[in-house]
Amino acid sequence: MASITLNHVAKHFGPKVAIADIDLNVKDGEFLVLLGPSGCGKSTLLRMLAGLETVTSGEIHVGGKRVDQLPPSARDMAFVFQSYALYPHMTVRRNIAFPLIMRQFKWWFHLPVIGGLAKRRIERSPAVSDLVEKTAKTLSLTEMLDRYPRTLSGGQRQRVALGRAMVRQPEVFLMDEPLSNLDAKLRSAMRAEITRLHQRVGGTFVYVTHDQVEAMTMGTRIALMRDGVIQQFGTPREIYTSPANTYVARFIGTPPMNLIEGRIEGNAIRIGEALLPLPARLLAAAQAAKAPSVLLGIRPGALAIGPAGAAGGLAGSVSFVEHVGAESVIAVGLAQARTAHPEEGEVPGEIMVTTSGYSELARGEAVSLSLDLSETVLFSAETGHRLDPGPAFG
Ligand code: ATP
Repeated sequence: MASITLNHVAKHFGPKVAIADIDLNVKDGEFLVLLGPSGCGKSTLLRMLAGLETVTSGEIHVGGKRVDQLPPSARDMAFVFQSYALYPHMTVRRNIAFPLIMRQFKWWFHLPVIGGLAKRRIERSPAVSDLVEKTAKTLSLTEMLDRYPRTLSGGQRQRVALGRAMVRQPEVFLMDEPLSNLDAKLRSAMRAEITRLHQRVGGTFVYVTHDQVEAMTMGTRIALMRDGVIQQFGTPREIYTSPANTYVARFIGTPPMNLIEGRIEGNAIRIGEALLPLPARLLAAAQAAKAPSVLLGIRPGALAIGPAGAAGGLAGSVSFVEHVGAESVIAVGLAQARTAHPEEGEVPGEIMVTTSGYSELARGEAVSLSLDLSETVLFSAETGHRLDPGPAFG
């Protein structure tokens, strides 16, 4: 069993608080993704799990056993680095076998001739060579076992690094941005490979990335971090449909969730000149919060574009259209309503809409946007926290 529990874990580097005070429960066999922008503390958290970094305070338990005071070698975990960290002077076979050879390490392994012979003997023993061959086969590395890392592509090197982690048969795999040195196409192939690896070996995976696509496609659960604090811990679907706050809402999704300023008036929300009746879930939340000023969060796919002047719609005009293969991304500048938290390069008051297929809309065209409020969420304009329980699904 390799559940992971963090109790009040913090890490300070002098005055710098890298990890504030984290509580986390990861179930056995989960694929946890630590996601967040550069500097949010995700690598520090992973390194504390591995024992490569001490904890300033708090406790880490793996499989019910406290590990935060144990050295890395005493934790049943394998670490895969962004840089691959392969030994350049060793063949692929030796690189993969290395953790198994080190299990039988004796001081005289350092002696040039005797040590070399002893390592080769272990490498060729049936127990080790069978496991290395099996692992290589799983990762399609059989043909490359006698080559050196410098003769391999980035993707092949990363597979060797995975192989070296796999032969240890650890309870926990820790991976720090393992795909970030690969090009986009190879990244997506390796994403699928790591997901399959997780399904096959069944261990607990903790995977660090700043790439939301990796997080959404690979994770069983995601911990989205910012400034050493977990903003939300949930399944990809929960995080996508019901972001805990406006930070999460704007971090996930391409383009991200639109946040439209609104005022609660009776049973409806006023956005510019439009007064839209609220569904029961949003109305109850708005009434309970007693906050007249809110932000309506709506994903670009939950908006429909129609001809100008439609009743109940938000009036605007098309700012630009991008054709992205199967869908079009359309920016609409709203005539009346305002948006919140624009990112760098975005225009306040502009709403992003995605439609399937090739949009024939042209820049400057007057349009009307209709909103499917059943798919929206409400945030407090003051604190940025989500007010309603989020759309029901399942
Ligand atoms: P990235 O994606 O860029 O690797 P990250 O989310 O993994 O970022 P960390 O590397 O965990 O972030 O760093 C978290 C914070 O702690 C950063 O502000 C970083 O500058 C700081 N930090 C990390 N290691 C040290 C150290 N050894 N000494 C001082 N500060 C550190």
